[in-house]
Amino acid sequence: MSDRISRRIAAVPPSGIRKFFDIAATMPDVISLSIGEPDFVTPVVIREAGIASLRRGETRYTSNSGIRELRQAVVAKWAQLYGVSYDPENECLITVGGSEALYLALTAILNPDDEVIVPEPCFVSYEAEVIFAGGIPVPLATRVETDFQITAAQIEAAITPATKALLLNYPNNPTGAVLDRPRMEEIAAVVSRHNLLVISDEIYDRLVYGDGRHITFSSLPGMRDRTIIIGGFSKDYAMTGWRLGFALGPADILAAMRKVHQYTIMSAPTTAQVAAIAALTDPAAEEAVQAMVASYDRRRKLLLEGLNSIGLAAFEPRGAFYAFPDIRISGMTSDQFAWKLLEEEHVAVVPGPAFGLGGEGYVRMCYATAQDQIEEALERMRRFVRRHG
Ligand code: PLP
Repeated sequence: MSDRISRRIAAVPPSGIRKFFDIAATMPDVISLSIGEPDFVTPVVIREAGIASLRRGETRYTSNSGIRELRQAVVAKWAQLYGVSYDPENECLITVGGSEALYLALTAILNPDDEVIVPEPCFVSYEAEVIFAGGIPVPLATRVETDFQITAAQIEAAITPATKALLLNYPNNPTGAVLDRPRMEEIAAVVSRHNLLVISDEIYDRLVYGDGRHITFSSLPGMRDRTIIIGGFSKDYAMTGWRLGFALGPADILAAMRKVHQYTIMSAPTTAQVAAIAALTDPAAEEAVQAMVASYDRRRKLLLEGLNSIGLAAFEPRGAFYAFPDIRISGMTSDQFAWKLLEEEHVAVVPGPAFGLGGEGYVRMCYATAQDQIEEALERMRRFVRRHG
């Protein structure tokens, strides 16, 4: 029996987030700050485009790469927003979420036992996906002292002859960190010097607050030919359930990704692709994005101020929709804090170590949650910290 499952798959533990999610779902009166998804329904103009497509009977496969008009819209938007151009014919692939794009990128570039540098805390899937693709993740802890940005020196020190790629994610899940240009330039220099590839997961690109502006990693000198951009619709357009994302990158790597996609997936969902064209091209969708960003920003400030006033010192998240407060004042580990908070106050948060190295002492809270729920959660946490602090 024991050899029925691949050792590689069996070695990967299930996601730590799911456990909280499942238990919280069974409790009454729970406020969940644990799930990483927008609380908005997909903007109506996007939904209508999907419905209209179904009404027209567009229920077949699309081209493997994705509907040409969608690819054109993706590259046009990327060029307009971030100044980097891609060829919609061979440098853009439409995928089943950013998740598939990430998996394809790793599968396309890794040989057995190639190492991938993974700054952490990070999205729960990264280490697992590197292992599934036959590689070896090399986690590096980012710290609050460097604003949860990975540094060139850390990367340089971790590079071995087996290092193939660096997996970046800014704006970051779970810390909300963004990478500033000077740091990016230093990282780009290391990447060039050691001939690495970069997978840059920019799925939260539109969710940047204050005077910050997203910089795509491929816009740095010399990086376009070394970078695979992972993008998507789940977060920016509140489309998690539609399962749509994309990859942008050099033609040779995109061709290899397309090959895996062709044999395993065929094409991303047709309805979702048609809806996504509206997401990228209809001015009403753009207005909706801006309204959602403004709303997240209000809730970001509310949660941040509340946490700091309770004594849970929170790093200021500049992107995505997560806060990552330091909970060490409670004298508990992250796991103890999260479980006790759930049991005693019915507030669900995710322990930092679920996101890898550097997560102990922190918990993740998602503020894509109704404002009154955030206020109530803060009240409950205030009581909790008073009792245990
Ligand atoms: N990348 C990051 C950093 C994420 O946080 C997520 C979802 O939580 C994904 C990728 C996957 O998104 P999707 O597959 O829905 O596009």
